[in-house]
Amino acid sequence: MLKRLVIFFFIAAVLGIFPVLLSAQEKASSTAKCAHCRKEKFVSVQAKNATGKLVPLCYECAMLPRCDYCQLPSEVKTDGGDQLCRDCAKDCIKDKTEAEKVMKDVRQVLNTKFKMTTKHKIIYEIGNRKDLNLEADGEHNELGWFDPKTIRNKPQYTIRILTGLPRDVFRSVGAHELAHDWMSEELPHLMDKPEIREGFAEFVAWSFSKAEGNKRMMEYTERRTDDVYGGGFRKVSAMMGDAKTAPEWKAVLLKEFPLKGRKSGK
Ligand SMILES: [Zn+2]
Ligand SMILES: [Zn+2]
Ligand SMILES: [Zn+2]
Repeated sequence: MLKRLVIFFFIAAVLGIFPVLLSAQEKASSTAKCAHCRKEKFVSVQAKNATGKLVPLCYECAMLPRCDYCQLPSEVKTDGGDQLCRDCAKDCIKDKTEAEKVMKDVRQVLNTKFKMTTKHKIIYEIGNRKDLNLEADGEHNELGWFDPKTIRNKPQYTIRILTGLPRDVFRSVGAHELAHDWMSEELPHLMDKPEIREGFAEFVAWSFSKAEGNKRMMEYTERRTDDVYGGGFRKVSAMMGDAKTAPEWKAVLLKEFPLKGRKSGK
């Protein structure tokens, strides 16, 4: 019996396992042009670049700190303290005039694609984390801030966004903040429910990225694991079902969280 088993394993090894081992070795010893150092080297891993394409990295480059927005090694540190790869650093928003232009466009897209609109003036600010009062503590990594205020009995709306974000990241953050702006006007009673407030804003940013065909920003949102942003996003997405526009989203949220009895627990 034992002898038979030994023979069986011997045959299995020759037929099945050796070719597997061989092909694994072949893979490990294949060389390619590393996407980071651009030298012909042994490929250690494949990593996603800014467009979501898998590119090879050599062993040394695979060990480097990575870009905050894709999987490539980071080379640039922005004024906001973010790590960016060469590609993501190519087209960043650092200038107030440009930021205003982009935000105007994002607001327009939200209106056309999702009927998400508010009419009031919004002030846009851009700066580093400290200037903008943004937090980055590992738990949350704030990239933008919606700040409604009342000054001399008049409402004033400000959106602050971190400087130096890659354009598509900036647009997605802009959509998130504009979702807060819309919610504060249409569903103010939900603004003090962090999971719903942030989850909805993430859902809008995700829907916006989808409409823009921006897969990596969709994945960026999907990857979030914390309770408020990640958990909130999954909760709100599940809630929305077939609802496609802001008025429909509002109806869903109102059904779930009616205006009356809003003080009755969480
Ligand atoms: Zn390399
Ligand atoms: Zn990158
Ligand atoms: Zn938010």
